Amino acid sequence: MDTTNSSTSPGNTDRFPEPGLVWLVGAGPGDPGLMTVKGMRCLAEADVVIYDFLANPVLLEKARPGCEILFAGKQAGRHSMNQDEISALIAEKALEGKRVCRLKGGDPFVFGRGGEEALHLRAKGVPFEVVPGVTSAVAVPAYAGIPVTHRGAAVSFRVITGHEAPGKPESDHNWDEIAATEGTLVFLMGVRNLPLICERLIAGGRRPETPAAIIERGTGPAQRTVLATLGDIVQRMEEAGIKPPAITVVGEVAALSRDLGWFEQRPLFGRRIVVTRARAQASAFAEALEEQGAEVIQAPTIHIESLADTPAMRAAVRNAGEADWCVFTSVSGVDAFAEALDLEGLDVRVLAGARIAAIGPPTAERLKRIGLRTDLVPERYAAEGLLDSFDALGGVSGQRFLLPCSAIARRHLADGLRERGGTVDEPPAYSTSQGDGLPDSLLEHLEAGEVDLVTFTSSSTVRNFVEALPEARRRDILDKVRGASIGPITSGTMRETGVTITVEAAKSTIPALVEAILSHFEQTSEVS
Ligand code: SAH
Repeated sequence: MDTTNSSTSPGNTDRFPEPGLVWLVGAGPGDPGLMTVKGMRCLAEADVVIYDFLANPVLLEKARPGCEILFAGKQAGRHSMNQDEISALIAEKALEGKRVCRLKGGDPFVFGRGGEEALHLRAKGVPFEVVPGVTSAVAVPAYAGIPVTHRGAAVSFRVITGHEAPGKPESDHNWDEIAATEGTLVFLMGVRNLPLICERLIAGGRRPETPAAIIERGTGPAQRTVLATLGDIVQRMEEAGIKPPAITVVGEVAALSRDLGWFEQRPLFGRRIVVTRARAQASAFAEALEEQGAEVIQAPTIHIESLADTPAMRAAVRNAGEADWCVFTSVSGVDAFAEALDLEGLDVRVLAGARIAAIGPPTAERLKRIGLRTDLVPERYAAEGLLDSFDALGGVSGQRFLLPCSAIARRHLADGLRERGGTVDEPPAYSTSQGDGLPDSLLEHLEAGEVDLVTFTSSSTVRNFVEALPEARRRDILDKVRGASIGPITSGTMRETGVTITVEAAKSTIPALVEAILSHFEQTSEVS
């Protein structure tokens, strides 16, 4: 076979003896979970990422630190490059010897102009690989409960660009032939031309009663599906105010979305929920809410800094062997303790003679990860609960406690242990400071009443959130905030600072808070 590889062509290779490599990667239709494992690996290894508007920007967080990230899509208000400029840029970066991840929405070879970019790279002698992506043409209907093929309803499907105005004399489409096609028609880029498309399909013999669905911003928190017929979808789309990006599905299968719709039916779909806890601790909580369909906005009001490398913490781990009990009141305390051990060249054997208490299951879980089993977790996940548990064990008189805690911890636990005759060493293990402030877009959503819940997982999150609201707008915004509290202590601070308590967890844990949020919205939707 005669393959011409222009990498041997003179010019480029003389100047750039070792061209890099380009991966043409499909980023999937929007839901970041729909990017392939291989695509992720390319993204993580790349020296340069060149991405489009439709690629979910959240994915860019997976690029390695120091990676050059360039936007090449078309978006209002930003300079947009034409296709030749984009192709030239990709080649240029690779010819500098870099590994380039060219990230495109959906699949790069489905209306993605990936073919043109690949041809340009071949002409320039730049090696490339294609990493297919999950195309919106199939995935967006799937998220609306529409299988593009279905026994008895459609044995084929056809993906068509709606970008070309039907009726244009130079149109590549043969509309009569498209109308006569058996099977499902999937139109991409067809919002503006939908009136003409429907007209041509009906003129070509498709029945006006044929089911048709249009799905806006599929696979993400703003997904909307309008189910209609070929005859009235234009009107229904206009009534709903559907805007691009959207996909139109024409054919019997579209009607299945009534029975098979699942994504928009999840319990928290369409709910916007703010998570205020520190970013380092927020992911499991945010994921649990997202799994139930919520749109989560992370607005960390707390920044946690380890104090492991301080004289007090380092001395505390050196002397840990003297303790009868080592009590951990937070995950951050465990992390700092482990870090201090490491700095001192020690390990968990220093606690061989001590018993271990944790304030709640997440802290116990983190202890397990560093190789420590917990002897005591109180029934009530608070300082008071720990004190009750120690009382139930027969008191603490004469016992020595090591209590790696927050620099601004409530003194309740240490004081209570001392009152009961214990000796307490409470080295500050971490400090907390206010987060980065609240983004403007969030303030606007809050002011407009477009946030369903703001979650608070400690008293500090409440105080810092309230303080982060600009003073002039604070009262107005607080009137609109509906708060979700992890437990009674946080709720107390909410009352003090004037934050409405709409939801309170039955037990002070994240799973219980998620549970309470779910049952709150279940009740709300029953009423409405
Ligand atoms: N290469 C892409 C398609 C690019 S063309 C792919 O394989 O998915 C851009 C068109 O794709 C949009 O106009 C719209 O019709 C469709 N599209 C892409 N993502 C979409 C989404 N999340 N929801 C609805 N339509 C989408």
